Amino acid sequence: MNRELLEEKLSELPLYIYDFLDPKELEFNDRIRWICENECPMYGKSWACPPGVGSVSHCQGKCLSYENCLLVSTIVEVNDIADMEETLATRPEHEAITNQVRDIMVDLGAKPYVLSTEACTLCQRCAILDGEGCRFPESMHPCVESHGINVVPVLESRGLEFQFGANVVTWVSLLFY
Ligand code: SF4
Repeated sequence: MNRELLEEKLSELPLYIYDFLDPKELEFNDRIRWICENECPMYGKSWACPPGVGSVSHCQGKCLSYENCLLVSTIVEVNDIADMEETLATRPEHEAITNQVRDIMVDLGAKPYVLSTEACTLCQRCAILDGEGCRFPESMHPCVESHGINVVPVLESRGLEFQFGANVVTWVSLLFY
């Protein structure tokens, strides 16, 4: 894939940052999975979340099977970051931008494996709840955390804060290729 062309297109998008990394730079951590299991109401309710995505080592193996990873991040200011309704309402825009990045990469000849944010909302009711397979496996994006990935060290290694400001939501997607 032509990185120069990709960067030209990325510069037209309202991204906070983008950066390229070696998938081996990512920290895969069972502690993140523990949080999914014990603190997230979506655990077991979406194919985009654990345990549907497989074990952390399975997810890690999949991510490390790619040579490159593109990290894209958007930020948005809200009145109160603790207000989950307000915070989550900012997510669709990030998802739309992630899909734009995916489409650009596909146009340039790549077939990226995309991790994005939160549980998939493509269907009103996820098929996993009815014991069925995912209806749109090519379109749904598992969330970054579902794979046990802690993105904070990678952001910090580039001098970036995950928590940009008191009421600033940071959304991150990873596109492996
Ligand atoms: S596309 Fe539908 S079935 Fe697949 S993960 Fe998303 S909500 Fe679930």
